[in-house]
Amino acid sequence: MRKEFVVIGLGRFGGSIVRELIAQDANVMAIDSSPDRVDEFSQIATQAIVADTTDEAVIKSLGIWNFEHVIVAIGEDIQASILTTLILKELGVPQITVKAQNDYHEKVLRKIGADFVVHPERDMGIRIANNMISNNVLDYLELSDEHSIMEIKANDRLAGHTLMDLDIRAKYGINIVGIKRGETIMISPAADDPILLGDILLVIGADIDINRFVKKAM
Ligand code: ATP
Repeated sequence: MRKEFVVIGLGRFGGSIVRELIAQDANVMAIDSSPDRVDEFSQIATQAIVADTTDEAVIKSLGIWNFEHVIVAIGEDIQASILTTLILKELGVPQITVKAQNDYHEKVLRKIGADFVVHPERDMGIRIANNMISNNVLDYLELSDEHSIMEIKANDRLAGHTLMDLDIRAKYGINIVGIKRGETIMISPAADDPILLGDILLVIGADIDINRFVKKAM
């Protein structure tokens, strides 16, 4: 079954979500209050609609609560973003993802029940900074303010060792929950599995401990 999404706000962020969802064969209703933006997506999205989503009657008339997932990508108008999210929540939309503009905005969104809150600019900044600190840190997913999952490329200091001899959990308090090797991924690798040069380790733990590991071992 094709997945059903609504994207509200067709700026750079919302627009790229629409394009990618369509490329992945999803059904997407794209909404913006600006007719020019909607025009741009009329040939791309499954449906492209001009609407102001701070108007509850408009959201109801579009039947948005029938969709599985709504992404609110309204940027600068924080008030419109919060009001839209509140209306969607009250209508019982199962999953609501909202782009936050700043920490205060995020706090309010979480209070009113947004299921996922994303900060694309801040998250990309963190990702780039991590990549600059170590070329071996490939990707990064924030789990909370203090915990993350990182993809770390095994260098020659780790290669040839097993998880047991590295004793990473005891030394750093972090866990290697998976190893990607080419196309395969080993979930919960065994303690005696040797690490190969270029393996990508999926490491989970407190940021402070992961950073200690990256600085010492990489
Ligand atoms: P980006 O960085 O993704 O380009 P941005 O953070 O600059 O975006 P804006 O351009 O302010 O965000 O907003 C994204 C889109 O949301 C705009 O196209 C704007 O017309 C639309 N938008 C703003 N308010 C509403 C609303 N009440 N209903 C529907 N769309 C809205």
